[in-house]
Amino acid sequence: MEKEMQKFTLAIISFLCISFFMSCTPSPIPQKTQTALNTVCTIQLFEYGTEKIYTKIFDRLDEIEKRLSVTISSSEIAHINKAAGDFPVKVSADTFFLIEASLSFAEQSRSAFNPAMGPLVSLWNITGFNPLEDSLPLPEQVSKALQKTDYSKIILNKDAETVFLQEEGMALDLGGIAKGWAADELMIILEEHKIPYAIVNLGGNIYAYGSKGNGEAWNIGIKNPFDSNAPPVIKIETYSASIVTSGVYERFFIKDGVMYHHILDSATGYSVQNGLVSVTIVDPSSMTADALSTLVFALGREKGLSYMNEKKIKGILITKDYEVYASDVLRDSIEILDSAFILIN
Ligand code: ADP
Ligand code: MG
Repeated sequence: MEKEMQKFTLAIISFLCISFFMSCTPSPIPQKTQTALNTVCTIQLFEYGTEKIYTKIFDRLDEIEKRLSVTISSSEIAHINKAAGDFPVKVSADTFFLIEASLSFAEQSRSAFNPAMGPLVSLWNITGFNPLEDSLPLPEQVSKALQKTDYSKIILNKDAETVFLQEEGMALDLGGIAKGWAADELMIILEEHKIPYAIVNLGGNIYAYGSKGNGEAWNIGIKNPFDSNAPPVIKIETYSASIVTSGVYERFFIKDGVMYHHILDSATGYSVQNGLVSVTIVDPSSMTADALSTLVFALGREKGLSYMNEKKIKGILITKDYEVYASDVLRDSIEILDSAFILIN
């Protein structure tokens, strides 16, 4: 009986937009949770986890945060932003790589994904804790900030490993991609230590690494976008992969019927308003899944679906009307668990 109970134990890790559920034998070392990258990070190493590996993982997350955070004044990103319009800044190979990757997503999406959104992210106080409910930015402020978000003015010098923002007032913001890249970096540590399977959850950026102890696929649940305490609404079956959701329901406020949230439209400077409430991407690269969840969200339903189908990307969109759209390559691997949600073919 106890064994049966164990088999069906639902281990739910549920942060931000994804919940994950699986059945497994208990880990000899329990999962570890710490705050890093401005979010709650939970790592669960199964079978071969040791304190030393956990320490290495969280040390790496700290190192990444110290380089990439916009709010830490000594970070490389903060240095680049301070030097905007003035001089190029030499950065680490890690930071250079991530900025280069961000630019390629910006080009692919004609700036729907835009790493130069810093001035708007600050204006809307996205990383802050106090929503601007009582004092929305003025339209003039939005258009002024918008003028400083041209990603083609981010100049990279590969040989010198420098980054230069050509105009004063420009600012990088890698909030749409950094957690995913960090998750990929942790996979390198897991491989080095021959960890066979693990779950990495960086504030909702999940990496279900390896195959579950018994060789079966992982079952990952997508959280109910309308009620974070409700059970998962869609099940995705996948072998080793990252699953990342961008949702607008965790941090938002509604004023005069408009929902203000943290994914910004790089054409208008305001929150994206396209009827989507969440986008989930499944990909072996967590950096790709993270960037694409933001990118496809910003593209909207129609363009987002065509983009995913053209590039054979695995993704699911949920609309404010409870409609679910899956890309062609993912449709057969998902199951709707909550009948309020309708899969549209
Ligand atoms: P989270 O996992 O924190 O919910 P997302 O991956 O959904 O984040 O990306 C949203 C974050 O990306 C914002 O908090 C902001 O830092 C940044 N961002 C907002 N709009 C855009 C955009 N159009 N392109 C790129 N990054 C954006
Ligand atoms: Mg993202």
